[in-house]
Amino acid sequence: MKVLSAILFFILSIQISFAENDLGIPEPLKQGGFYVGKIAIGDKVTFHGKRVKVSEDGFFVFGLGPKYKSQANIRVDHKAGGHTMYHLPVKPYDYDVEQIKGLPPKYVTPPKEVLERIRTDAAEVRKIRTLDSDLQNFREEMIWPVEGRISGRFGNHRVYNGKLGSMHTGLDIAPGQGALIVAPLGGKVTLVSDQYLTGNTMVIDHGHGISSVYAHMEKTIAKEGQIVKQGDPIGTVGMTGRATGPHLHWGMNWFGERLNAGIALGIE
Ligand SMILES: [Zn+2]
Repeated sequence: MKVLSAILFFILSIQISFAENDLGIPEPLKQGGFYVGKIAIGDKVTFHGKRVKVSEDGFFVFGLGPKYKSQANIRVDHKAGGHTMYHLPVKPYDYDVEQIKGLPPKYVTPPKEVLERIRTDAAEVRKIRTLDSDLQNFREEMIWPVEGRISGRFGNHRVYNGKLGSMHTGLDIAPGQGALIVAPLGGKVTLVSDQYLTGNTMVIDHGHGISSVYAHMEKTIAKEGQIVKQGDPIGTVGMTGRATGPHLHWGMNWFGERLNAGIALGIE
């Protein structure tokens, strides 16, 4: 009996061991990045307690928003029984403080009648970001939506006309008014909306909760519901909404988690 329980303990300790990363995810991970992993077909993945969609051929994705500062915890439940825990090291992002001056006061302290509109706008985008579609465009290698000077980093804590605002949730690129914006990954256009703060705004779903947002566009080209391929034109650069000059505000998300597109592009 003693021998049997010793053997049983040995088997259990193998199955519930802390394994090396055999998910195909490069370490250390970076805060703000999103990562594609691969597991055996039929296995299941949980990221920090949240069950994550796995494609038929075993691919999954997760994103590291600002709250993941040191570790990404992934649990893989094996079809054959048992599970493996992965505690992957995360490199924290260095956030800057950035001064934005010369904004029209109505965008810094929006009038009361506008606050309701801002709330409705935000709710519309929040709802779209709950989508967990089967698309797998997140597996493509990302390209720039437009090339130009980086006029705003992701994650900067912004001070608008001297008033502390929220964290900057995108990457700003300023190639000049009217420059063509293309889809950095393929996907489905899930929202085209004229919003108070972000102007002409578009959201593209890339699958499994990964989405991208494009703000301040001069005009939108792709239509809501349209399937776009990587490199397809989606709009042009402008300064609609709260902007001091023409630029593209480009954000990436994993559901509600704010991600840094610059990491996927390899510039951060
Ligand atoms: Zn921006």
